[in-house]
Amino acid sequence: MSMANVQDKYLYFHRPSFGKEEEDEVIATLRSGWITTGERTKQFERDFKQYIGARHAVGVNSCTAGLHLALLCAGVGPGDEVITSPITFAATANVIVHVGAKPVFVDVEPDTLNIDAAKIEAKITKKTKAVIPVHFIGQPCDMDVISGLANEHNLVCIEDAAHAVETVYKNRKVGAISPFTAFSFYATKNITTGEGGMVTTNTDEAEEKLRILSLHGISKDAWKRYSESGYKHWEIIYPGFKYNMFDIQAALGIHQLKKIDRFWVRRKQIVEMYNTAFADMPGIEPVFQKVKHDGDKNAYHLYVIRVNTDQIRVTRDDVLNLIQERGIGVGVHFRAVHLSPYYSNTYGFKPGMFPVAEYNSERVISLPLYPSLSDDDVAHVIGTVKDIVSKIKR
Ligand SMILES: *Cc1c(COP(=O)(O)O)cnc(C)c1O
Repeated sequence: MSMANVQDKYLYFHRPSFGKEEEDEVIATLRSGWITTGERTKQFERDFKQYIGARHAVGVNSCTAGLHLALLCAGVGPGDEVITSPITFAATANVIVHVGAKPVFVDVEPDTLNIDAAKIEAKITKKTKAVIPVHFIGQPCDMDVISGLANEHNLVCIEDAAHAVETVYKNRKVGAISPFTAFSFYATKNITTGEGGMVTTNTDEAEEKLRILSLHGISKDAWKRYSESGYKHWEIIYPGFKYNMFDIQAALGIHQLKKIDRFWVRRKQIVEMYNTAFADMPGIEPVFQKVKHDGDKNAYHLYVIRVNTDQIRVTRDDVLNLIQERGIGVGVHFRAVHLSPYYSNTYGFKPGMFPVAEYNSERVISLPLYPSLSDDDVAHVIGTVKDIVSKIKR
């Protein structure tokens, strides 16, 4: 196969994988006359908590909403501090600000780019109320150390599992480890409902609070209010939010969840193809993609390479543009949050504070990784990256 410079089709960075099952379920939902939170949402919650092995799962309209509610349920508010990773999506830090607390960043490990658990304790103060580990690209954070610190210092652990629906840490499923775990079903995530999320929790009390907060802070679900058992009055017991998942989302989620293992197996194959190709390619260094401990499972959400700027003559952004010009969609996960204008202006974060995060912030590129990529598509990505890098080597 020749690696032509010009390809007739653009290879998207991500494409969701929907089939007839999702199409039929959405149509059945529309025809049922019940499109908001109802039986399909309940079913998706039941299926999801069973998949995770959690006691409860509460559907929400995004992972961001789930993280926000988890912080509120944990009682985090003004004057408190919350520890998280600077290598994450905006949402993880923004929700800390939403509840009036202060984000406190801890640098990441050089191999996985997960929060460096060994550096957390030094950042714990009397004000620290919670810690939000982010399972970067689906690799499990070191939960033994993080949960241990949370217990010792009375912090609530809220896992950002936006990348980590399938992730397992030492034979324990992410979502069944901490008091709260938030998952994302955003368009580009491992399984998708377009927009959507789920929070898992292991206590009945937290579940009830999550449900109430996710629907205006009223005491009864809408679908119960209008059910055949008669009208029930509701009461506002907290000025809650409009964060509920609804049945059209759940129609997609129910079938996406059934396909989750098949999707994972295909992404794993693609990761292995990339790993083999980039193992000895000068200028390119993949972010750690293996399992770190016995009983770990990587969700293989993203494939991230780092450009080695000592070995090539251009910047990451140049490489990014060169790949894009050749018709391949790419992403950046992530530029360090602490250096974005809001966070540096508000909290005084400066370059040099989190050197591992900053080093990677300038070098990471995410390549396409999703089940509908063919072997030829993957070979095309590899060939294109190889060709570009060979031309810009020092
Ligand atoms: C996508 C993402 C989120 C937000 O998920 P939404 O469902 O879009 O709110 C949060 N954290 C990380 C690490 C993400 O990648």
